[in-house]
Amino acid sequence: MSRLARATIHLDALRHNMAMARAAASDGRTMAVLKANAYGHGLLPVAHALSDLTDAFAVSCLEEALPLREAGLEQRIVLLEGFFDADEIGVFAARRLDAVIHLPWQIEALAAAAPSQPIDCWLKVDTGMGRLGFSPDEADAAVEGLRALPAVGELRWMTHLARADEPDASATATQVETLEQALATDAVSDDQTSIANSAGTLHWPMARAGWIRPGIMLYGASPFADAAIHDRLQPAMTLEARLVSVKTLPAGHGVGYGARFVCPEAMPVGVVSMGYGDGYPRHAPDGTPVVVNGRRTALIGKVSMDMLAVDLRPVPDARVGDPVVLWGADPLATEVAGYCGTISYELFCRLTPRVQRVYRQGDG
Ligand SMILES: *Cc1c(COP(=O)(O)O)cnc(C)c1O
Repeated sequence: MSRLARATIHLDALRHNMAMARAAASDGRTMAVLKANAYGHGLLPVAHALSDLTDAFAVSCLEEALPLREAGLEQRIVLLEGFFDADEIGVFAARRLDAVIHLPWQIEALAAAAPSQPIDCWLKVDTGMGRLGFSPDEADAAVEGLRALPAVGELRWMTHLARADEPDASATATQVETLEQALATDAVSDDQTSIANSAGTLHWPMARAGWIRPGIMLYGASPFADAAIHDRLQPAMTLEARLVSVKTLPAGHGVGYGARFVCPEAMPVGVVSMGYGDGYPRHAPDGTPVVVNGRRTALIGKVSMDMLAVDLRPVPDARVGDPVVLWGADPLATEVAGYCGTISYELFCRLTPRVQRVYRQGDG
């Protein structure tokens, strides 16, 4: 038996979630967000699984965009931060990549460039996120500047929601209205805008116009802290390992580095082939849910590089070699993330290459 630390990616679940996002988009335009190796799920397999269900892909840099073109994918590909350097403009033109334009230097660089063909651009407006984009009062001048350039092809508008994962926050409505006001001076139809991330797609009808940009929901995790809000999503990743040791430790015995957990009684303790070297969070506290042999139990003691320990009292018949699920349908990554003070996004992205990705179609 070899060490097992595996992420099984359920392609049907990805497709189910993509179809759900697509159904929510009021103009039916979707941009599947595949940045960071498709949130750790594997860029190319995910892109191929979704390609007949989405109009576009979104990534963060050329290193993520070019493999999609090389794999023969023909969709629109939007680089969410545009080009990082004027040198990249030629590649954008040659590979038909869309650029998000968020700073004046990018307009100047396009003015100075003579690309082989015009580049489709998305003007990023900062309607409240406080990250990338022109302020609403700078937007008109930026649009005018871009429309005048032969290097610019089609021009669309984009903004990003800062608080759409808070179901009651009024900030989202304010952001959408701010974009609408900025747009009023430019003749664009809804399908030339893009607002919604996953939280916008799932919860904010007013943000679903134009091109939606679902990310985390495609992977079957909720953007909301309350996992109940996403019962129709299907988790696309099951992170699995095995028991590599099962022993009974006496009362008072420590478990792992620093003896953070001390056995309150004589108890069976399992050691699992998963650690922070695989990307499982080292700061996971005692009590973080883990499923052994289909039964829920808890992590105990500090996570090591290659291993972590679990309380086997709820699973007294557990044996070496038995399967352990760290996250998937149960426990949900969102729930594990809650214990660890982070979000499912980070858990997915930090999985290391040592974790084998296995792609499954259908059940199993
Ligand atoms: C990552 C990202 C998204 C997707 O966000 P989710 O919360 O994962 O749906 C959408 N738009 C932009 C600009 C992003 O950076």
